[in-house]
Amino acid sequence: MGGMRNSRITDSGRNVRTVSYASLLIVCIAAILFFPAAFAAEAAESGSGQEASHVGSPVVDSPLRYDISVHIDPVERTLRGRSVITANTREELTLVIGRRFEVLKARVDDEQIGSSATVGAMRAWRIPGEEKLPRRIEIEWRGELSPLDTSLDHRQTLGQNEPVSGESGTFLPDSSGWYPYLAGELASYDLSMELPAGQRGLVAGRLMEESESSQGYRARFEFPAPTGGIDLMAGPYIVETRTIRSAGGKPIVLRTYFHREVGDLAGEYLDSVKGYIDLYESWIGAYPFTEFSIVSSPTPTGFGMPTLTYLGLEVLRLPFIRATSLGHEVLHNWWGNGVYPDYAKGNWSEGLTTFMADYAYKERENDAAAREMRQGWLRDFAALSPSQYAPLTSFTSRTHGASQIVGYNKAAMVFLMLRDLLGRETFDRALQAFWREQRFRVASWEDLQRAFEAASGRNLHAFFDQWLTRPGAPAVRLTEAVRVKAEGENRHVSVTLEQTEPAYRLRVPIAVRTQQGEEIRTVDLENTRQVFSIETDALPLEVILDPDLRLFRHLMPQEATPILRQVMVNKTTVTVLLPESGPVRDAAEVLVTKLQHRAPKLIPGTDNMPAAPALVIGLQDQVDAWLARHELRRPEDIKGKGSAQAWTTRLPDGTTLAVVSARDIESLAALTRPLPHYGRQSYVVFEGAKAVSKGTWPTRPQAVKLD
Ligand SMILES: [Zn+2]
Repeated sequence: MGGMRNSRITDSGRNVRTVSYASLLIVCIAAILFFPAAFAAEAAESGSGQEASHVGSPVVDSPLRYDISVHIDPVERTLRGRSVITANTREELTLVIGRRFEVLKARVDDEQIGSSATVGAMRAWRIPGEEKLPRRIEIEWRGELSPLDTSLDHRQTLGQNEPVSGESGTFLPDSSGWYPYLAGELASYDLSMELPAGQRGLVAGRLMEESESSQGYRARFEFPAPTGGIDLMAGPYIVETRTIRSAGGKPIVLRTYFHREVGDLAGEYLDSVKGYIDLYESWIGAYPFTEFSIVSSPTPTGFGMPTLTYLGLEVLRLPFIRATSLGHEVLHNWWGNGVYPDYAKGNWSEGLTTFMADYAYKERENDAAAREMRQGWLRDFAALSPSQYAPLTSFTSRTHGASQIVGYNKAAMVFLMLRDLLGRETFDRALQAFWREQRFRVASWEDLQRAFEAASGRNLHAFFDQWLTRPGAPAVRLTEAVRVKAEGENRHVSVTLEQTEPAYRLRVPIAVRTQQGEEIRTVDLENTRQVFSIETDALPLEVILDPDLRLFRHLMPQEATPILRQVMVNKTTVTVLLPESGPVRDAAEVLVTKLQHRAPKLIPGTDNMPAAPALVIGLQDQVDAWLARHELRRPEDIKGKGSAQAWTTRLPDGTTLAVVSARDIESLAALTRPLPHYGRQSYVVFEGAKAVSKGTWPTRPQAVKLD
């Protein structure tokens, strides 16, 4: 949504300094909402805010401030508002509001505002520069809100981008232009809202006052730091409150704004949030705000903003949300909404948040869980086509699977390699300093590099440069390993590593299995071919390259088993639909569109196999005939099982083939919903819509046995 608003601003021809930050975090939980069943499947396996005045007090003064009051009627679906904008800047400004709203009054320094231009769904006014400060812009507006449609899925909700309202919920996303704002500017705000009795509402920030009578509900919120936008939520909420003490002793008010249906979850959500705030305060520094709220949504959405997260009722009920996504969202109050990424130079906040939340929780679980997550990242990356290898400096937000694989996962792995290089203590100290210096500022990857250099006393230019600006990943090969006799003892191995041009500078973990166990060494690979001499404590038996997968690299074919995601995200994938016409063909078409989220590249079933990833869909007999023609077979493990099967196989030329085979049209149609959620698997067996068996084919590391 941030991107959308930004593009509208760009359309108006104004030079954009910043983008909308508040809506930045939508993407995080969106990732879960796009693949909920997969997450569910994995999970199955495995006080009042009236006190105190020191809150989120800005270290950066905001030259812009909005004083807004709105009245919302969810039954009538109407909004009426008044805003006074105070601007302590002499620059030219662009005032924007959604075109669906009628502007009743608009004055700039007590003069009638000029004429507006239409930019997409927005109306925009140019406000020329002015010497005399402060400047005052006053607007009154009103309009109708769209009806809340709870039948939409998350993708549709995101695409809709309009202010919606109904008795069960109101959501006014910043990007809908529901209030007048200055394009591309950060601003602080004070917002009062009025709602009918029985309704509660909130925006990000601090609840300063609230009252309820038979006349209705009123609440006033303040956000004193400069921020990028305002999203407003309301509904028939029951509010639970708990006040905790931050590390520095100040109170932090935690609240749930929950619909009655999920009211019983409030206690455990509040417990979890407290745990996360404690964790990150001790790891990074004091929580920068005075509250955090979890808000339920009648639509299956997942949004994160400063001081709150807005989650669909169904999402809140998923058992793993508290254990993972919630912590990710809480951490974004430091990275993303506490320090703002400099989008023009690449968004680092998702990678760092993934590393310190999702990945950190796996590390706390155990080594195997953490390794499995790294393996998943590398496998997903191996599923991309080279055209999808964007450099990290060009990542802004998650718009599709490929951008998440780079912007979240590759970036998280870069932080892991950096911590391996500097040591945990130095790494954490750098982040604490970065936090102290950059709180409520816009910071770039370069600022992060400077913080890590200052803490470690090392020049990290080469490290950051190669990982941020080069697209793709290094491909490292273990080409030779021989035992060398030295002084009569067989305790030396000579190991040859190769990588493609231009060479990366890499610290490559090498494991040597000896008679007494395993020894891990790290070697510095800087050339395209290098020979290393490794001394061991006991007789060496086998050399294994990076067995724990701590290096971000292209997995070699035997290291990366083919997974279904390959034919879902790789844009060069070709598809063969074996049913030629009729309802079975239609069902196959629906399935492939759902899998790939784009128009598939279809080729006839009679064609030879192209040198690209391929997806073949058909009924059992058709699939068997097709396999026979290509001298392929069903994998033994899944043969004859279930009503439908999907599996991958690697063809002799190294490309991935995925096959979907169903007993009949009903079994094929039943896959439409669940199958897209199993991208991480090599095979899945379904009984109807239920996955009864799944897994990945075994992998083999790069290893050389010593004779
Ligand atoms: Zn995130």
